[in-house]
Amino acid sequence: MPSDAPPEAPPPTLRLTVDTQALVDNWLALDRLSGRAQAGAAVKANAYGLGIETCVPALRDAGCDSFFVAHWSEVDAVMRHVPAASIAVLHGLINAAEIEYAKATGAVPVLNSLEQARAWRKAGGGRCHVMVDTGINRLGLSPGEVGSADIESLDIDILMSHLACADEDSPMNDRQLELFRETARTVPHRRASFANSAGIALGTDYAFDVTRPGLALYGGVPRAELADRIRSVARVEAAILQVRDIEAGASVGYNAKFTAHEAMRIATVSLGYADGFLRARGPGAVFMAGDKPCPVLGRVSMDMVVVDLAQARDLAPGDWIEAPFSLPHAARQSSVSQYELLTTIGNRLRG
Ligand SMILES: *Cc1c(COP(=O)(O)O)cnc(C)c1O
Repeated sequence: MPSDAPPEAPPPTLRLTVDTQALVDNWLALDRLSGRAQAGAAVKANAYGLGIETCVPALRDAGCDSFFVAHWSEVDAVMRHVPAASIAVLHGLINAAEIEYAKATGAVPVLNSLEQARAWRKAGGGRCHVMVDTGINRLGLSPGEVGSADIESLDIDILMSHLACADEDSPMNDRQLELFRETARTVPHRRASFANSAGIALGTDYAFDVTRPGLALYGGVPRAELADRIRSVARVEAAILQVRDIEAGASVGYNAKFTAHEAMRIATVSLGYADGFLRARGPGAVFMAGDKPCPVLGRVSMDMVVVDLAQARDLAPGDWIEAPFSLPHAARQSSVSQYELLTTIGNRLRG
């Protein structure tokens, strides 16, 4: 009998696998490194591309109870898994619709200016967080504004600031730390928060009451101190679409960037820059078929990339190979930052 239901699509030819145990282990390691402070989790940008649906429940079950997003539009997906009161919205409140939504959901605004503080109080106020800008000059009140009556009269849970250079050995780290300490003395608040992933690696002086790791939860290593403690979380694999044998002198891909010096067996793989495997990742990148390396040849296309099968000659269409996704290594190899490697992971990988 004909059915009105659309036919079910065949399984995708590329996949992202998130190792939630590695994610949890990373959170536990960062929580321990935070000393007496509690680690929260930055889950903005769909948990850095790895998926709110997968990451937030795992972090919650591990004991995480503070979640940081950038946009109000990100609150709903997180709220399905954790209480709204545990979600902080870093972009603050810039219009009446956002204030109304904050009130309606109970997600907590991070107030970034005197104007936002006044608007929040005028709307009835209530528990909030406050960002103070100690030098990154992005979002937040200036330290001098924090002691003002408009701020003092707020119900501040977390007073926070953000480091500009935590992934470097910069004198700016200590300067920001000192300024944050001084500023924190000028206003009542329940908890203080300063360190992102790299900030946690700077030591417990930077940890205060709540830390806000993002990158390192997802397998990023922003400082060498974290290298042995952080496990890889994301695995990207794709299927081979076609295998071909080419002659010496034949070229591969757009703009003929690779030319074979000898006869070669090559494979076209179902992963391209639209999936986050950016063009910058092509030169020098090596896919793995089990323990057999398959180097990328020529330009990465939108939906495909071609690899050398010299060491994996038996592979056939439908076989899967793994894209290089060790973040520190891939970042060095491509000059794309570890943050961008994660957050550009494309939607087709998420099924
Ligand atoms: C993104 C963000 C974090 C997390 O930073 P990572 O470097 O990914 O650990 C923490 N705090 C603020 C304010 C952020 O915007």
